[in-house]
Order: sequence, then C-alpha cells, then structure tokens
Amino acid sequence: MSQTISVAVVGAGGRMGREVVKMVLEDEKLQLVAAISPSKVGQDAGTMVGMPACGVEVTGDLELALVESKPDVMVDFTTPHTVLANTRLAIQHKVRPIIGTTGFTPEQIAELDEHCKQQGIGGLIAPNFSIGAILMMKFAAQAAKYFPHLEIIEYHGDQKLDAPSGTAVKTAELIAEVREELRQGNPNEHETIEGARGGYYNGFRIHSVRLPGVFAQQEVIFGGFGQTLKIRHDSYERAGYMPGVNLAVHKVMEYTGLIYGFEHFID
Ligand code: NAP
Repeated sequence: MSQTISVAVVGAGGRMGREVVKMVLEDEKLQLVAAISPSKVGQDAGTMVGMPACGVEVTGDLELALVESKPDVMVDFTTPHTVLANTRLAIQHKVRPIIGTTGFTPEQIAELDEHCKQQGIGGLIAPNFSIGAILMMKFAAQAAKYFPHLEIIEYHGDQKLDAPSGTAVKTAELIAEVREELRQGNPNEHETIEGARGGYYNGFRIHSVRLPGVFAQQEVIFGGFGQTLKIRHDSYERAGYMPGVNLAVHKVMEYTGLIYGFEHFID
C-alpha cells in the first residue's frame, strides 16, 4: 500500500550526506531523485558513495534540483550558514525538510513551522537522530526532577562550527521544562579565566569540549547529597544516525507543521 518516497539529499558529498545517500539507495521504499553538493558536481551519486551508479548526477543548484526532481522530502546535512536558506527553499517548493544540520534559533524554527503549515506539509529539525542520544535526553530530563543540580558536558570534533551542540541545547530545553530555574554554584563564585564555568542556561552550565579524534559524546552530571549520577551517551560513527533518518523520512509524510526534535517521532 505504501508508495515510494522520493528524496533529495543536500550536502550529499559531506560525511553525513554520504551516509544518507547510501541509506536511501539501500531502501527500496525510497528513491533518490537529487543529490546536491557544490564540490562534487557531475559525479554519479551512487559511485560517489562507493555504490553502483544510480543515474542521479550531483548538482550544485538546490533550487533547480527541487524544481526539476520534485522530491517528497529533502534531507539536509550541510552547514549552519546554509541550512536556513535551504530549508526555506524546500518549504517554498512544498518539499518536506528533514534537517540534521544544527544551529537554528527558536525564532527561525517558529518561522519555518508557520511556513510548513501554510504549505500544508510536514518537516523535522532534529539536532540528533540517534536513538541512544534521544534516550539520554529523556533520562536526563527525568533525573532533573529529583536532581536539580546538574551540568552538561558535550564532546565533539574540533572542526564543529557551533557550540554548544544542538543536542546539548535540546537536552537543556527538555530539562528546563521539568526543573524550576535554579542558579547553581556559590552565589559569590567568579571566573578568574573567562568561560571557566561554561555557558549559562536556566541556572545550570553547559561545557563544550572540541578535540580532534572525538566524534560525538555527551554526559549530564547530577549532584545530590553524597552522590552523583552520570547519564552518558557515546556515538562512534555516522552510520549510527541512519536508522533515525530513515524513520524520519517515512514518518514526515504523515505530519503537517515543523517538528523540532526526533524524540517526537519515537513512541
Ligand atoms: P561536512 O562533512 O562538512 O559536510 C557538509 C556538506 O555541506 C558538504 O557536502 C558541503 O558540500 C555541503 N554544503 C555546504 N554548503 C552548501 C550549499 N550551499 N549547498 C549545498 N550543500 C552545501 O559536515 P557533516 O559532518 O556531514 O555535518 C553536517 C551537519 O550535520 C553539521 O551541522 C553537523 O553538526 C550535523 N550533524 C547532525 C547530526 C544529527 O544527528 N542531527 C549528526 C551529525 C552531524 P561541498 O563539500 O560539496 O561543498
């Protein structure tokens, strides 16, 4: 009964985008109709990712690709600088955006949600497509009800552009929903080196570690009387996100409006 879903991948030549191209080509219920990557123009999308040729030539012009291939869904793993324009363009052409690129402001998300509703389509912005990371966020929010003193430490590679990570921001937001604002630490504390206490969010701190060799990790540390609780998730490779992206591509067809957070796609 289910129809094939046509997919455009933006950032197809990037580290995440290549995994998305493979995932789409391997799912018989999905059809790759466009692949956008400015530095890989002219290559076959299949051979670009080490698979047999698929007949989709990589292009650098997103709008033309959307107009010509009319995809149901656009998956974007690009850069914080380009993703907003890409998402606006997709919605304008009634293409459902599935966005993994991080760095949106709440105002931008609200604007895109409104735009999706006007166009009668669904969309998703997900700072993290990993099921383990979603559970880490949910467990952290649960623990914050009983342990209101906490700090978030997130670890990523040194080339990541935005800080804190989208996952850390999302975790902080989920925690803030269940925890009354409480300024932690000594009220008289002062930083002798600027930034030593991390970024301030709703009374607690977020620390962003950026190091070569690191992929993506986060821990939320809770402190109580005589005890600490650590909730930690480690991602080791990009392929681990693909079951989540695949689920999102299928499920977005059932929604109207832009959803923020992959947790809403998981029971
Ligand atoms: P990457 O390897 O640097 O790839 C970025 C891609 O964006 C490149 O293919 C680049 O194409 C493309 N690009 C840049 N400007 C473009 C434009 N104007 N139009 C079309 N494509 C453009 O980065 P990555 O490691 O794949 O990460 C991409 C994003 O995903 C980052 O924001 C990262 O934080 C995020 N991410 C999210 C999740 C999640 O679960 N949500 C997981 C991992 C990463 P060219 O090279 O051809 O110029």
